[in-house]
Amino acid sequence: MSWVTQLARPEIVALKAYEHAAWEPALERLHANELPWRSFADESLAGLNRYPEPQPRALVERLASLYDVSVESVLVGRGSDEAIDLLVRGFCRAGHDSVVICPPTFGMYSIAARIQGANVLTVPLRADAGFALDEQAVLDQCKRDVKLVFLCSPNNPTGNLLSADSILRLTRALEGKAVVVVDEAYIEFSGAQSLARRIPELPHLAILRTLSKAYALAGARCGTLIADPEVILLLRKVIPPYAIAQLCMEAVLKALEPTQIAVSKARLETIRSERERMLAALPTCSNIVRVWPSAANFLLAEFEDAPLALARSRGARLLIRDVRGYPGLGRCLRITVGSPEQNNRLLDALR
Ligand SMILES: *Cc1c(COP(=O)(O)O)cnc(C)c1O
Repeated sequence: MSWVTQLARPEIVALKAYEHAAWEPALERLHANELPWRSFADESLAGLNRYPEPQPRALVERLASLYDVSVESVLVGRGSDEAIDLLVRGFCRAGHDSVVICPPTFGMYSIAARIQGANVLTVPLRADAGFALDEQAVLDQCKRDVKLVFLCSPNNPTGNLLSADSILRLTRALEGKAVVVVDEAYIEFSGAQSLARRIPELPHLAILRTLSKAYALAGARCGTLIADPEVILLLRKVIPPYAIAQLCMEAVLKALEPTQIAVSKARLETIRSERERMLAALPTCSNIVRVWPSAANFLLAEFEDAPLALARSRGARLLIRDVRGYPGLGRCLRITVGSPEQNNRLLDALR
């Protein structure tokens, strides 16, 4: 029995996948109960009267090449949010299994787990050590029924990278026991290498990537799970067959053409230099206690009077994120790095 078969929910292992209408573009379609004509406003390439191709080949190939991984290790979903949900639904038996999360971190891991009825175990990041991963404490929590460990690097909302060595050691230690999911939503801003290329040697590692941040495509809802091909086959049974809308696929392929990629790279550089400028400038505002260095496109800042800072930024027509509800971040706000003009306006408002 393979490790995926042993670890995944038996119901999903046993499930026969839905048989979607065959995808044979060379033939005319009288097999999916679609209308033969387009609607009037339909300017899509393929026609919105047709169901889209499940896991569209062109998109999967483009993302595999973008992330430098094999086509078989890619599952495309509606944002990485969907990939998080699929992982929990594929691996966690309701009322039995658990996930481990390391707060303060992205909220969707525990929400997806709770919707599935999985238990959520928390191992806080070490606030006294720049929110580093507590590798030993995570291991100590990983008893038999922990199926997934969610790590976020760079972490939202603290901005720091987790140690790749720690993550890889943890993954090795959990081999056969749990899947280590590393959410790399902000990796492009960090300059660090993705851990995705380690999957062939560490099949229990799964990586989440998204086009929502560095590629300016949050509205397209396009996220990628990179994992062992057997995990991908398992979760293809769980994802709805026509998850990726035709318009999204066409928009994403256009946005990932080489000229656009060059634009994205240049913008990344702007955001990174603005981030360092803001990191230096924010502490000169009187209300600020400290700002943490960041490997992402946002900064975590502690204020003496957070409500005042929120009100002042609103006054400059800028929204910043209240993260005071996260454990240990009682007076903190999260500031997305914007355009130079927006950043200046925020600094003026906070000074
Ligand atoms: C923004 C973000 C995502 C992206 O989610 P999408 O569904 O792909 O838009 C994933 N993980 C973290 C930690 C994020 O902050």
